[in-house]
This record gives sequence, structure tokens and C-alpha cells, in this order.
Amino acid sequence: MKPRLALCGGPPAVDVALQSWPPYDARIAAEVDRMLQSAEVSYYGEEGHVAVLEEKFERYHSVRYALATSSGTAALHSAFVACGLRPGDEVIAPTHTFLATVMPVFAADATPVLVDCESDTEGIDPGLVEKAVTERTKAIVVTHLWGHPVDMDAIMAIARSHGLKVVEDCSHAHGATHRGRVVGSIGDVGCFSLQGKKAVSGGQGGILVTDDEDIYERALLLGHFRVRAEQGVRSPGMRQFADTGWGLNYRMHPFSAVMANATFDRLDEVVERRRERHGRLLELLRVAPGVDEPHVGPEVTMGAWYGIKPRYRPEELDGLPIDLYIEALRAEGVKIGRPGSAPLHLSPMFNGASAERMPFAGSPPEGRRAYLPGDLPVSESIHDCALSLPTFTYEPLEIVEQYGEAFAKVADGLDDLQRIAKERAHG
Ligand SMILES: *Cc1c(COP(=O)(O)O)cnc(C)c1O
Repeated sequence: MKPRLALCGGPPAVDVALQSWPPYDARIAAEVDRMLQSAEVSYYGEEGHVAVLEEKFERYHSVRYALATSSGTAALHSAFVACGLRPGDEVIAPTHTFLATVMPVFAADATPVLVDCESDTEGIDPGLVEKAVTERTKAIVVTHLWGHPVDMDAIMAIARSHGLKVVEDCSHAHGATHRGRVVGSIGDVGCFSLQGKKAVSGGQGGILVTDDEDIYERALLLGHFRVRAEQGVRSPGMRQFADTGWGLNYRMHPFSAVMANATFDRLDEVVERRRERHGRLLELLRVAPGVDEPHVGPEVTMGAWYGIKPRYRPEELDGLPIDLYIEALRAEGVKIGRPGSAPLHLSPMFNGASAERMPFAGSPPEGRRAYLPGDLPVSESIHDCALSLPTFTYEPLEIVEQYGEAFAKVADGLDDLQRIAKERAHG
């Protein structure tokens, strides 16, 4: 006899609980307590836990410079400004990404030009990047989405042939590699979010890495001044501005640095645990009707991942509505939903009609392109059928088997689900 769906009153397939992220670490609590007692709560120079974190990122990415920031968004803003953008300049960017990859381009006085992604990797499509290059293009930003590295060989070839800077948003991809090179170190500058849910987590925080002295010094001057700027800015042309910088305060909180250092020290372990768990999950999704496992190319390693995003295949389940499919899986104890971010070109900031009504000064409206639904169809169709699963790290391997069971069970209970769909349709 078939096991009864949990939606129809049967026992759920999953009973292993998810762990919270980031994991509790008593050493963080002890160190923060010590810092509170000695009032070590803010740094003006290159010092303390922030300096330690920067050194770790420099070593890990084999680059000369790392700069910690108050957020990943601040790291990206610093990177764009550091690329020397001027009003009217264009930055080619993915539409299929979190907003923070793209929106700071406006704050850097330039204009993002959104392009579509590859259907399998979900990364920005290099062929479309090449087509989007104009005489105003100054930079390309890529996101290694969900931890899958973008085709950096193709991106770097385009960038070199047109003299463009490349910013890598590595917020999902701590520890991932493309053809053996760790992401963040391939383009001109790599940015990482260290926000609460990220693999290296400071609660809030970010960091950028670069081997380019000019980029480092400009980034430093955007969000730092005096002691820190005097320590880090050597070239005379820029050093004269060290006293004020650009006046933003993008300094990282020392407590965030304590947390980020502790989670960074576990990165290899996290990568290994996720590799083991997600590798098995992908096998189980591959054989379950109704769902395609996320693509992992042979030229990459996934690092820490950032969520698992399989695609729903209604044609394999007789057109069962996606919402009922999700409801059935949730009843089985699967933590599943649909990814939050719609493609950026569908949001009001990229809809030309609203240019004059934009609440910020930003780049001139005539430089901004207006997008319509259907303009970047690959990203739109991915968004329509994408599912979102958690990452597994310290959960026992058994949870992965149970998730696989839940997917198999729901596909197997299609008759019951079709009956429910029909009943609901007829009210
Ligand atoms: C989290 C995230 C950011 C921004 O990070 P914050 O630290 O929250 O500012 C940027 N890009 C991507 C892809 C992200 O997921």
C-alpha cells in the first residue's frame, strides 16, 4: 500500500528539525563579553578583529587587499565607486539576482543595464553581456547565484577586449571555484555579504577583496577616513584626501568581525558538510518526478551554496498547480517555498515610466532603459517555476533522505492531489 500523504492525514516524511544558522558558538559569546567589559566596541584604524578578518580573506583569495564593510551592499557600493564610474557610465548587470548586486550602481552615479541569465547555471549570460556592451559601458557585475560560479573565462575575455572592470558579487558563493580558481579573486574586485544567513556570517557585514591598489584605495576612501585611510592609502594623489575621505562610514562593527572570524574558521568544514548533504539531495531530486535538481557544471565547485533552488516540472505531474505541490511538500515537513526576488527588470526602478517619479536623484533618466515583462524571458521563466529549499550543514544526513522521501511520496500521491485540485476548483 502507498504511504498516505501528510496532506491527507498520513504521517509526515520529515521529522528531523532544521538547525538555526549561524550555529551558536560559545567562544563568540565569551569574546563579545570580554570586549564589552573593555569597551572594545569601535575601531578607527586597521586593528583588532576586523584586521584579522581582512587578513584571512586576503590569504584565502590570494590577493593583496581586503576591506571589511558594514554590509555586502556597502562593499558593492565601494567596489562600483572604486571602478571609477562617472555619471552616464553603464554597468552591465544580471536581472536575476538580489537587488543589492545592482542598486548601488545608482548610488555610484552610473546606470545599470540589465541582461538575462543562462537557463542552466542561472548566471549572467556572457553572449548577452557581449551584445550589451556600448561605448558607455565601464564595468560588468556578476553574481555567482546560489553559489554556482558564472563562466568567468567568458566574462573576463569580454572585459579585457573592451577595457571593462569586473565586479564579482560572491555573497552566495563563499569558497566556490571556477576552473580551480576561488571566486572573488578572478575579476577586478570581489564582494561578499557577511549578513546573518550567509555562509560566513557576521550578523551584518561585508567585505571586498582585490589585488588592485587603485581599487583598494578608492574603496577605502569612500567609507573610511583619517587613521584607517592614512594607514591604507599610499599613492600621493589619493592620500591627500585621507583626512575626510568621501565621508561615508562603512566601518564594520567589531562584534560582527568576531562572528565572521569564527564562521570563516569553519568554512572548509561547512563546505564539506554541504557538499556531502547537497550532493545526495541532488541525486534524490533527480529521480523524483515533477522536479529538476539544480544544475552544477563540471567546471565549478559549489563552495558553501546559498539555498537549493530546484525547478518545478508540472508537465511531469499532469499539470498539478505549483502551489498545491508546495502545500503537499510542506505538509510532509519539507521547508519549501518560492524564491523571494523577482527579476529586477520587472520592478518600478527599471520601468521607464516612473523615472521622473524616482525618489532619488541618481543617474539621468535619459540614460536609463525601460524594461517590459517578456524582455528578459529566461529569468522570468526560471522565476515562474523555481522552488526554494534550505541548505543543510549540521543537520544529520538522515534529513536529506527524508526530504528525498517526501518528494517521492508527493509524486506518488498524484491521484490524491489531482482529486484535491479538482475539489477546490469546483469550490
Ligand atoms: C545578501 C546579498 C547581498 C547584500 O548583502 P547585505 O550584507 O545584506 O548588504 C548582495 N548580493 C547578494 C547576491 C546577496 O545575497
